[in-house]
Amino acid sequence: MTLPTGGPGLFDIQEDVRDIEHPVFHVKYRTNSSGTLESFEDSVPERLPVIKILGTGGTIASKGSTAYQTAGYHVDLTIEHLISSIPDLSHTCELHFEQVFNLDSKEITTKELLTLKARTQEALDNHDGVVITHGTDSCEETSFFLDATLDFQDKPVVICGSMRPSTSVSADGPSNLYQACVVAADKQSRGRGVLVTLNDKIGSGYYITKSDANSLDSFKSLGHGYLGNFVNNEVHYYYPSALPTGRISFKTSIFEETMPEVIILYAHQSFNNELINMAVDRMKVAGIVMATMGAGSLPDRTNAQLGELSALHGIPIIYSKRSMDGMVPRGSMPKNNNTYLIAGGYLNPQKSRILLQLCLNAGMDIKRIRKVFAGVYGG
Ligand code: ASP
Repeated sequence: MTLPTGGPGLFDIQEDVRDIEHPVFHVKYRTNSSGTLESFEDSVPERLPVIKILGTGGTIASKGSTAYQTAGYHVDLTIEHLISSIPDLSHTCELHFEQVFNLDSKEITTKELLTLKARTQEALDNHDGVVITHGTDSCEETSFFLDATLDFQDKPVVICGSMRPSTSVSADGPSNLYQACVVAADKQSRGRGVLVTLNDKIGSGYYITKSDANSLDSFKSLGHGYLGNFVNNEVHYYYPSALPTGRISFKTSIFEETMPEVIILYAHQSFNNELINMAVDRMKVAGIVMATMGAGSLPDRTNAQLGELSALHGIPIIYSKRSMDGMVPRGSMPKNNNTYLIAGGYLNPQKSRILLQLCLNAGMDIKRIRKVFAGVYGG
C-alpha cells in the first residue's frame, strides 16, 4: 500500500509539530516530492546526492508506553516522523521520502516484498541512493531478496532498523537512520549490492543475519565479516566495492503477487518425518529447505524419506543449517545420487528459501538450481 504523496498535511514536515519525545533537530532540504534528478541538476550545478527513504515499519517506527519498554510495543510512526528525529543532513544530501507500508516485519509476505522491490526500483531510477527503514526480525530476508532482484544502476540501497522503539531511553533508531542516509549518500557505497547498517556497522544484505533477539549489537555475518564502519560521521569501508561471490540477478514482474511456496523445516532430535509428508502431500509445496543439525546432518530415516519424495514429485530440497556460521558442502549430502537434494552452501535457511523461490519462479530446472547454489559453494 502506498500512502498519498504530495498532498498537504500528512507528509509536509512541520517544524513546529512534535509528537515524539526525543530531541528534534533543525531540518532543511526535506521533501516528499517525486522530482527527478534532471530537474534538480538544471537548477543546481554542484548538487548534493538525492536520497529517497522508503518507510516500511518495524521497531524503528514503534512507540512504547514507557521509556523502559523494549518489548510488546506497536508500529505507530510514519517515515515522516522518523525523518524529523534525525540530525540535519542538509550538507550531505537532499531527502525525499515515501511510506510504502507500515508493518511489523513478521507480517511481511511475498506480496509486500514484490511491492517494495518495485518501489525501490522506481526510487533508484530517480535518485542517487535509497534508504529503507525496516523491522529487524525479517530484514535479512528483504535484504537478500532485493539484492537478488534490483537493477542497482551502481547506486546504493541501504536498509536500517532499530532494536529499541522510538520512545525508549537510548533509542537506536535516529542514529541508525541518520547513518544509513550518510552511507547511501557516500559514493564509496556504490557497487556493493544491498547494505544493512545498524549500530555503526555496515554489512552485506546478502549474508547478514539477526544474531541476537534483544541486543543493539545484533546484526552479524560472522564468517563473511562486516564491509565497513561508521565513526564520527565518517564512512569507513574495509575493502573496495565488490559483490558477494555467486550472487546472481533475477527478474521479477510488477504484475506478480506471489512466488512458488517453499517452506523451512527445522531439524532436531526425534524429528517427525510426518512434517515432510504433510508438506508434500497436503501443502503441495514447490520446495523445502531443511535447517539441518550440523553441516547437513539429518537422521538416516529423514534423508531416506526426503530422497524418495523429492525424486517422486520433482521437489528440490535444500540442506541448510541451524548453526549461524559455517556451511553445508556437497560432500555432506546423502550418497544416493539424488539430484533433487541440494547443499545450501553458506546460505542460512531463510536466505536459502528466498533463493530457491526465485529459482523456481524463474522456471529453472534442477540442474540450473544446483548451479545457482554451487555459486555459494553448495549445489
Ligand atoms: N518486531 C520488529 C519488526 O521486525 C522488531 C524490530 O524491528 O526490531 O518489525
